[in-house]
Amino acid sequence: MGKMSRRELLSLSGPAAIGSVMGAGVFAGAATKDATDPVKRLKIIVFGAHPDDPETGCGGAMLLFSRAGHEVISAYLTRGEAGIEGKSFAEAANIRTREALEACKILGARPEFLGQIDGNCEINQKRYQDIYNFLQKEKPDLLFTHWPIDSHRDHRVCSLLVYDAWLRLGRQCPFYYYEVMTGSQSQNFYPTHYIDITTTVTEKHDASFSHVSQDVQAWYETDVERVQVFRGMEYGCKYAEAFIKHAQSPEVIFSKMTGSR
Ligand SMILES: [Zn+2]
Repeated sequence: MGKMSRRELLSLSGPAAIGSVMGAGVFAGAATKDATDPVKRLKIIVFGAHPDDPETGCGGAMLLFSRAGHEVISAYLTRGEAGIEGKSFAEAANIRTREALEACKILGARPEFLGQIDGNCEINQKRYQDIYNFLQKEKPDLLFTHWPIDSHRDHRVCSLLVYDAWLRLGRQCPFYYYEVMTGSQSQNFYPTHYIDITTTVTEKHDASFSHVSQDVQAWYETDVERVQVFRGMEYGCKYAEAFIKHAQSPEVIFSKMTGSR
């Protein structure tokens, strides 16, 4: 998005606007600037354990961010090596990397692969350091990762590694959790924030369906579409993605970043 009109500025409401009044962090502070100030281009990193996690969890938001001119990185812990039956890890990694590149193209994101192995994601000193180093290099303005209570081990590992790096970096950048396949994977996910993805839901679908090796049509309706409809009902729009903000994270005014409620 470009400049923000006075009407848009005044229309901010709800918890995000309250955060801005409280002046929590650089993002909230920006809302109190002159309405003619252009919005700063931010760097956003969405971590996922596997190709398809960022896309299905918050692909709608990723495209809203990139369309608004922000830099979006889709950071995959693995290349989905274990995810295609009958294929070797190397073959599956090749196929799923290509699918992730295709999905990222649709969402306007830059893919990064962080060298772990699907089904065997590790949490140890070296892996903590890898994510810390990656974040130190990239210096993101906003972070998303898996919610840690999840039936998939790799998702739990991804969540904890990113959380640890965020702590070590002084909790300076806003930090939010997203959900995947709530019920079967994410559990006990009670959102604190939402983004209206009604204008990007088609591209989110297309990006998710780039992962053809994952038999997407077998689960997309039940595990993704129903959830985004329900989150939309909660938030008061057609389709939404939902997030949990870490209580010690600076606030982000998503509507100001994306132009979407
Ligand atoms: Zn996954």
